[in-house]
Amino acid sequence: MAQKSPHTAQLIKSEFWKHKTLSQMSKQEWEAICDGCGRCCLHKFIEDTESSEDQDPKSALHYTNIACFLLNDKSCACMAYEKRTQRVPDCATLTAQNLEQMYFMPPSCSYRRFHEGKGLSDWHPLLNKGKKTKMHELGISVRNKTVSEEDVNLDDFEDYIVTWPLDEI
Ligand code: SF4
Ligand code: SF4
Repeated sequence: MAQKSPHTAQLIKSEFWKHKTLSQMSKQEWEAICDGCGRCCLHKFIEDTESSEDQDPKSALHYTNIACFLLNDKSCACMAYEKRTQRVPDCATLTAQNLEQMYFMPPSCSYRRFHEGKGLSDWHPLLNKGKKTKMHELGISVRNKTVSEEDVNLDDFEDYIVTWPLDEI
């Protein structure tokens, strides 16, 4: 997950996403592709079944509404973005090269959409003057829908399974 840079207006004007692939993007452009939905900051679980060896991990993937303790549930931004991997070693760092392995990212994730050739959704902040309002209104973001991992017993994760993070819209 990323945060908006102060140069968002310039990036929006350049419409870089129309003529660059993810591998061609600068660091700033790459960061701006993140819609800031916060869905990737939810706890996910792979169901362990008897035939798990042959199982497609995507079909056994469950999302919960339990959020990382560093997620701000109003802004849906990480509260320690620059130091996130030090604070949370499991925090996934996406690159143009590892997206293929990131099957657990939500279908609406803008990196995943780009990787799948779908481009930006019409609610993406880059297509809405840099604002997340439309994304929040459509329920894409995790705003007001999460509980912090600090407030739940993770052994009870089954009580928190939700399907809305898998909605693409
Ligand atoms: S540290 Fe937590 S809140 Fe921050 S980006 Fe990673 S999972 Fe999300
Ligand atoms: S799911 Fe993807 S687009 Fe949404 S915050 Fe996470 S990395 Fe960014």
